[in-house]
Amino acid sequence: MTASAEYLIALAGNPNCGKTTLFNAITGARQHVGNYPGITVEKKEGVHLFNGLKLRLVDLPGTYSLTAYSMEELVARDFLALERPQLVINIVDASNLERNLYLTIQILELGIPVVLALNMVDAAASRGIEIDAEELSRRLQIPVIPTVARSGTGKLELLEKTAEVAAENRSWKPLHISYGADIDPVLDQMETDIAGSDFLLDFYPARWIALKYLEADEQVINKGAEVNPELSSRLEALADHVAEHLQKTLETYPEAIIADHRYGFISAVLKAGVVHNSQRSDRLYLSDQLDQVLTNRFFGPLIMLVILYAVYKATFDYSALPVEWLNAGFTTLSAWMQTIIPPGLLQSLIVSGIIDGVGGVLSFIPLILFMFFAIAFLEDTGYLARVAYMLDRVFRTFGLHGSSVMAYIVSGGIAGGCAVPGVMATRTLRSPRERLATLLTAPFMNCGAKLPVFAMLIAAFFPARHAQMMFLLTIFSWIAALSMARIIRWTILRGPSTPFLLELPPYRMPTLKGLLIHTWERTWQYIRKAGTIILALSILFWALMTFPLLPDARKSQFEADRQQILSQLPEDTRTSLMQPGIAQDGLTREIAKASQRIRAIDRAESEATLQHSYAGRIGMALETLTQWSGFEWRTNVALLAGFAAKELIISTLGTAYSLGGADLDAGMSLSRRLASDPQWNRLRAFSLIVFIMLYAPCLATVTCIAKESGAVKWALFSLAFNTTAAYLISAAIYQGGLWMGIGG
Ligand code: GDP
Ligand code: MG
Repeated sequence: MTASAEYLIALAGNPNCGKTTLFNAITGARQHVGNYPGITVEKKEGVHLFNGLKLRLVDLPGTYSLTAYSMEELVARDFLALERPQLVINIVDASNLERNLYLTIQILELGIPVVLALNMVDAAASRGIEIDAEELSRRLQIPVIPTVARSGTGKLELLEKTAEVAAENRSWKPLHISYGADIDPVLDQMETDIAGSDFLLDFYPARWIALKYLEADEQVINKGAEVNPELSSRLEALADHVAEHLQKTLETYPEAIIADHRYGFISAVLKAGVVHNSQRSDRLYLSDQLDQVLTNRFFGPLIMLVILYAVYKATFDYSALPVEWLNAGFTTLSAWMQTIIPPGLLQSLIVSGIIDGVGGVLSFIPLILFMFFAIAFLEDTGYLARVAYMLDRVFRTFGLHGSSVMAYIVSGGIAGGCAVPGVMATRTLRSPRERLATLLTAPFMNCGAKLPVFAMLIAAFFPARHAQMMFLLTIFSWIAALSMARIIRWTILRGPSTPFLLELPPYRMPTLKGLLIHTWERTWQYIRKAGTIILALSILFWALMTFPLLPDARKSQFEADRQQILSQLPEDTRTSLMQPGIAQDGLTREIAKASQRIRAIDRAESEATLQHSYAGRIGMALETLTQWSGFEWRTNVALLAGFAAKELIISTLGTAYSLGGADLDAGMSLSRRLASDPQWNRLRAFSLIVFIMLYAPCLATVTCIAKESGAVKWALFSLAFNTTAAYLISAAIYQGGLWMGIGG
């Protein structure tokens, strides 16, 4: 043992067993959060110096098993197999020991030395459960240290034991369990074959590989087929044979038998004298009593609606003020930039390209903080699991999962959310297909940025039916999202729902510190990742709407018109009039009128510039297609801008219709302008509303989709799929309407 010896130690355990709490207790602030390469599962690392040893701790994702069903499980076992840690600290929840040991058994079968942290002994004790740690240690033949991660009890003993075992540098020694008369003989034969041909042995022990073939584990089988196709198919044949036999004799399959025997092993370990449970038989746990009400068939869903609505309302209400402050801050910053940078391209780039773009993203931060705090609270208390449990059946009909509901609601399921935290909320989903289907469909919900556009169009064309229209649009978005999910799950994400156990952990009072850590980790990721990409793309969009510049000849025509008005005014008022944002009240009537005329020329110039720009040209080129939905070039440019951020739809329509500044407040005058435009009518407005509801998510959301799904292709897919769907549906509405003679 040298003074500088460094050991790699993995922390493994079920979700919610206190892993993060223990990790933070040990590593303090010296931790590093990143992602596992190529995957968005969070990776936390920290170094702790102990008795001259350097312990490098890695917090593995929480898993119940080491199969290949979920991203977390794959990450956890790949880490163990490829990084080969010295030992695993396996954290188990003492109040739910049997369930937690299922993972322990699988780690032991891999052969890695394990130190068991018997956590939450306080919670167990308060429920009348006592565990004899020494006896458990004797039976499992591994060190067992009782801990209370929340208070730090047992931390020192755990570290001492860890350092001791790590320093021994033990080699891996896999645990052998009997899997019964049907499987054992085949398992032995496979093990011999594998060991004899040095097959994947760098990663896993022979018996473990054999088990994976029996469990039909795709990842291991694919890897095996690459390394040694001949042996791999022989092993597959053996596994198929066992599977057939089990089907015939017991009407079951190997995984079930394997799981049965693992649980059998666990109950043998726990039998007689390890677990003392003084209360189980005579009274219901508080948790169970709570569940009798909270998951009651009738009251459960009612209470759930109230809680979800409250969370939603609180999040948006409490964040409204800070969001306003940030917006005000950015407005001030813009104004200040306009005073220090002379008008021109540079000013336009900084104000419209950078500050507006990045400000749009950063002003979401309070909202995201509150939303993640609420989710962390629901998750850490255990209530989110109940919500998923109650809604699972409904959502399963659409190929989703009970946990999908939170993402939908956050995205605007109750009109006015935001798809960015919505997409990030899908992290609570553990089944990959359902998660992907959820994050691809959540943006169909009516987020807060779509609402002003809807409000403006409704005010113009359906003024008497404001509330009914909003309600109709909410229902419409749910129907759209759920049916798109169903379609996606029938086609590109085809396959049975992932077997994922919906277990109901006992209710627990979360700590503020834990909640804050969970909240901040997620928020920081949003800031760092969304921030950089969005900056780049908003500059790109600014360029599209600015270049090519209006030819000098036309610019000078506008300038000449302005000069002509100015020349009729007294000398000393001229310069002040040319500055934007000048106070109007101190001016004489004549000058105020002149100022208005100059602003009108400015706006006409903006409109001309927009029409001349690439975006304007794209808008016009798209008319051949979009005429089927009833959109002309102005609408098209606004929709293009809306892709950068939906808030931009109104302001761009305003520019395209030569409206600006104060005219645009709350979209009111735009609304009047459209209502009186003979080209516009109800049908066209409705078609546009539907298109905006369904088309490509905004940049921030698309960026998040790429990050959360771990693949750019899903971001591209959502762009193409949503826009195509929006186009087809709005065209059907518009053409159908024309055919029926509405609006023409
Ligand atoms: P993870 O999902 O495994 O990372 O679990 P967390 O560390 O987030 O903990 C889940 C919840 O259990 C949090 O509310 C913790 O405060 C709580 N917790 C963690 N350790 C203990 C413990 O030893 N006793 C009790 N009573 N609660 C704990
Ligand atoms: Mg955690």
